[in-house]
Amino acid sequence: MGLLYLGTPLAWDDAKQYADHVRTHGITQFLHIWNNLKDRAGDELLWGDEVFINFCGDIFKLIKLFDITKVEYMVVAFDNVEKNAKLSLRQTEILAKLQSIVNDIASDKGDKESVPTFHPEYGRFMLESTPGSPYTGAVRDLLSVEENMRYRRYLARKYLKPNEVPLTMTSYPRLGVQGVFTEPHFDPKDAVSSHSLFVPEEITNPHARFPTLTANIRRRRGSKVAINLPIFVDDRTPRPFVDPTIPWQRNIYPEDPEAKHGAALNDHIYMDAMGFGMGCSCLQLTFQSCNVTHARRLYDALVPVAPIMLALTAASPLWRGYIADVDCRWDVVAASVDDRTEEERGLKPLKHDRFRIPKSRYGSVSLYISDEWQNRPEYNDIDAPYDAAIFNRLLGSGIDAPLAKHISHLFIRDPIVIFSETIHQDDTASNDHFENIQSTNWQTVRFKPPPVKSPIGWRVEFRSMEVQPTDYENAAFAVFVVLLSRAILNYKMNLYIPISKVDENMARAQRRDAVNTEKFFFRKDIFPPGVPSPLSTPNSSGFNSPVDPTGNSIPRPKSKKLGNCFEPAPKPEVEHAFGPVEEEYGEYTLDEIFNGKGGAFPGLIQLIYAYLETIDVDEDERRKIDGYMDLVKRRASGALQTPATWTRNFVRSHPAYKFDSVISQEINYDLMVAVDEIERGVRPPPEFLPESYNVCRSTQHHSMTNGI
Ligand code: ADP
Ligand code: MG
Ligand code: MG
Ligand code: MG
Ligand code: MG
Ligand code: MG
Repeated sequence: MGLLYLGTPLAWDDAKQYADHVRTHGITQFLHIWNNLKDRAGDELLWGDEVFINFCGDIFKLIKLFDITKVEYMVVAFDNVEKNAKLSLRQTEILAKLQSIVNDIASDKGDKESVPTFHPEYGRFMLESTPGSPYTGAVRDLLSVEENMRYRRYLARKYLKPNEVPLTMTSYPRLGVQGVFTEPHFDPKDAVSSHSLFVPEEITNPHARFPTLTANIRRRRGSKVAINLPIFVDDRTPRPFVDPTIPWQRNIYPEDPEAKHGAALNDHIYMDAMGFGMGCSCLQLTFQSCNVTHARRLYDALVPVAPIMLALTAASPLWRGYIADVDCRWDVVAASVDDRTEEERGLKPLKHDRFRIPKSRYGSVSLYISDEWQNRPEYNDIDAPYDAAIFNRLLGSGIDAPLAKHISHLFIRDPIVIFSETIHQDDTASNDHFENIQSTNWQTVRFKPPPVKSPIGWRVEFRSMEVQPTDYENAAFAVFVVLLSRAILNYKMNLYIPISKVDENMARAQRRDAVNTEKFFFRKDIFPPGVPSPLSTPNSSGFNSPVDPTGNSIPRPKSKKLGNCFEPAPKPEVEHAFGPVEEEYGEYTLDEIFNGKGGAFPGLIQLIYAYLETIDVDEDERRKIDGYMDLVKRRASGALQTPATWTRNFVRSHPAYKFDSVISQEINYDLMVAVDEIERGVRPPPEFLPESYNVCRSTQHHSMTNGI
């Protein structure tokens, strides 16, 4: 997200007058960056995480905040008398406190870089946390992620009230129920931005950007957003399920009748506000690439990885007080910011609007962007409308077609929030208009150009993963994706499958228990012609490894750092005769994709291990990596549950559960207490963590407290 300007936001009717202005200058700004930085090269691997936290209050008079990579946290307040775990709306105060603490620590240490940072997020019960400076490719940095996340959680926790805890929960189970779910309580009738039937104005960060986003999405769309998740039908769930908790007859805002006029579907959990989606937390990773070509290669490689990582990290089966029949947040967030008009959604003939748009602005990637030979045009096989004038302007300015298509596809969207003070900008000194459109295209992977006049290079952000309840898991998935990205680049893997199949995988990934019940499209042969599998040679490290006169391979010197500049896959001299695209992929279980399938496909984990053979890793480091890989391996095989499955089972085995799909206040309270206890290591590891979880945790905790 861009910086939070203090300024005067324009209401939609005013903002839309400037849409073309923002797009035109946004493209000018992009071209300025491109012209200056397209040849920027040799950037090292820098990377960082973002973790989102929620504040829960009144559990046991104990305040805690969760940690950061960017990890997002929710703060939950516990009421032990009422047995209610509520969202704490103290983001502004908590953030101010944390920022002053963090500044103090930084000046004491004389080192701002090592102190984590906290950022506001959409929900007033949320925080985003990132490391103070990005990690490098050093193995030491890779393995400091967990400690860094813990430190962030520790800081967050330390300055909460005694009854508050920071939780890294993807979705808060009782957001928007009837009754009290925030601390303090507010009535949804005051929801002047969203006009929601369920969530009050006060769940939204009060900074002008957020209420304006909320209101302008509703205004642009011409109705409230409508989110319908299929309900999990349990033994005593009434059928058809007609939600008795929807205030069907409310009549305060003009949109109130939408629910009864078809927006709320039977047998679904209906939600009607941006907060249901943007109030979710996630785990994101950003990688700096060696140069722009590498960034585009990495972007494309991560596109098919996004859905399978979503399936493995599934953590959000509970919504607005009910159990859903899905395990992930993705479609909820997509629908929660869907600002497309009826014409754009294809419900009416195009008259006022310019495009039919198949997806929300929060959605899976629609176009691969590499200009290397492996990116066959056939893979971009879905309807991805683009602005032809912008496309031509970019082509005319020397940008190649795949990148011009990508940018002009993002730029079919209108800017939603415009501040009157920043309408006119110096396009050589600002990227703000570009970022206005770019950063409100929330896709599974984001291609991030360097900011103007900064040391930062071309980056790629991986955005699909759900945040996990514990730092251990968040670190494990972060480390896994970092290593996978290196293995992919090092072994020149080709992971392309048609985008339509990636989209199908996104749908499958969110289904209940997808790990055990779904197959996913995946490329059959991921090694390009002329590039042997690293595992097909006797020495796993030594594909291409030198051989001595007696035929034994000579160990290559190992690198101290993860690589960043990799050779591209060699283009075959004879124009490679591609076969039909349909023969390039098959359907596989996650177990096969991660853990391998006979000789044909070794599995992603083994390829990471092969890559690790080229890196100088000591025994302790190796043990730690093994632990993380083991978690991923066992999630993929189904031996460990996802947090979503565990959560569903927790609710269904709770003594107060009535098998009616309802998460009562009491069940939610016990769930939040359990999740907090699991993270703190005072409850035995649940089915989604390895048996050794508490052991690892206590050693770590020891070293962390020494460091503070
Ligand atoms: P956004 O919210 O736009 O995705 P943030 O600035 O919140 O971006 O965080 C992005 C992540 O990128 C953070 O984890 C940060 O540590 C990391 N980061 C910062 N500088 C670099 C860099 N040069 N290369 C890669 N990652 C970086
Ligand atoms: Mg961020
Ligand atoms: Mg962001
Ligand atoms: Mg953010
Ligand atoms: Mg981000
Ligand atoms: Mg091959």
